Amino acid sequence: MDFGLTEEQAMLQDMARDFAQNEIAPTVEEDEKKDIYNEKIVKKMAELGLFGCIAPEKYGGNEMGHLAATIATMEIAKESPSYGVSFNIQMNAIQSVLLAFGTEEQQKKYIPPLITADAYGCFALTEADTGSDVASMRTTAKEVDDGFILNGSKMWISGVPNATLGIIFAMTDREKKHRGMTAFMVDMKSPGIEQRGITEKLGLHSSPTGEIILEDVKVPKDTVVGNPGDGFKIAMTMLDRTRLSCAARSAGVAEKCFELAKKYANERIQFGQPIINFQMIQDQLARMWCEHEAAKLLVLRAAWIVDNLKKVGGRPTLYISTAKYYGAEAAVMAANEAMKVYASYGYGNEYPIERYYRDAKSYQSVEGTSNIQKVIIARNFIEETRG
Ligand SMILES: Cc1cc2nc3c(=O)[nH]c(=O)nc-3n(C[C@H](O)[C@H](O)[C@H](O)COP(=O)(O)OP(=O)(O)OC[C@H]3O[C@@H](n4cnc5c(N)ncnc54)[C@H](O)[C@@H]3O)c2cc1C
Repeated sequence: MDFGLTEEQAMLQDMARDFAQNEIAPTVEEDEKKDIYNEKIVKKMAELGLFGCIAPEKYGGNEMGHLAATIATMEIAKESPSYGVSFNIQMNAIQSVLLAFGTEEQQKKYIPPLITADAYGCFALTEADTGSDVASMRTTAKEVDDGFILNGSKMWISGVPNATLGIIFAMTDREKKHRGMTAFMVDMKSPGIEQRGITEKLGLHSSPTGEIILEDVKVPKDTVVGNPGDGFKIAMTMLDRTRLSCAARSAGVAEKCFELAKKYANERIQFGQPIINFQMIQDQLARMWCEHEAAKLLVLRAAWIVDNLKKVGGRPTLYISTAKYYGAEAAVMAANEAMKVYASYGYGNEYPIERYYRDAKSYQSVEGTSNIQKVIIARNFIEETRG
């Protein structure tokens, strides 16, 4: 695993692992059972500099890069997939967008509080009737003299109802479809915004998810990121970064499931011997090993490409979607096989494996479903074939 890591990256990995094992793991089961999102944990992650990996020092970042962020995300997600989501909402979504498309004023205003967790972020694309087909969204932004008025609603948004700062996508011109979408930086405490939490969900109970209602929300013109009409392009760039984070979380979960199943198979005695002695259990563990290794290598490569875009050239989308797709499927496979190794003890909640099983399923839907990643991957071949 540690091949090619710099001394600095290896230190970050150790630090994130120690933090996850010593400060998140002790309360993770209790917090998940009670839907507790512990802001103190997020604050401590911020103090460790975990949300500063991609931002320049002038904004309080550490410029360690996406590979470093990926390594840290995997370590946190191994103990808590829920707190792994914090990387996305504090860093990968908004910071990436502002660094690529924001003005210097926007970067200066919004990036530092996300790094220190003085602001809690969210990114809002999805709506009740608009998932994969992002350009069909119904939320509108009407231009008025001194700004825009937002109306509509968003669904399944991570960080809600706790968000204080959001990047919200809305249609400034529905006729133009994806060319009529615009991104806004929105103070989530603005008049006209209501955030509602969704508590009835399968997993990720320490990662809030919710609905946003926007009713005549007035935002100034300087909240537009890029230009009106740039929203779709911005959303695709953002998803490239949030998918990287999701791939890192899923690779972490796949690895954790393998480690837990291996430990249990060594401890569980049947027919007078540890079940790891049985070849069918070895087959399951060997396949889990291969899946998580492949998922990890794919996401590390994708992150390395993002950090070396100037050297590599082109766009990283194919490699990110490959890592996202493979990671999601590897996590679900590993959790599924681990459940079989634990058998009835996996079905109960004495062991944490059922939590990973529930959380792993999210990766096949969030940041674009597994089908959508395959569409993106295949589009690449089609374009190549057509020249
Ligand atoms: C825990 C959680 C957190 C989330 N956080 C956020 C967030 O922070 N911000 C945000 O904006 N959204 C968020 N989402 C929403 C998530 O990104 C969407 O749910 C996801 O993109 C899928 O949309 P959908 O559920 O509407 O599925 P649909 O788009 O309705 O898809 C339904 C099925 O049809 C398939 N399908 C659709 N189109 C195609 C096609 N062209 N080809 C083949 N198959 C297709 C899909 O793969 C899927 O199997 C979150 C969701 C969850 C569960």
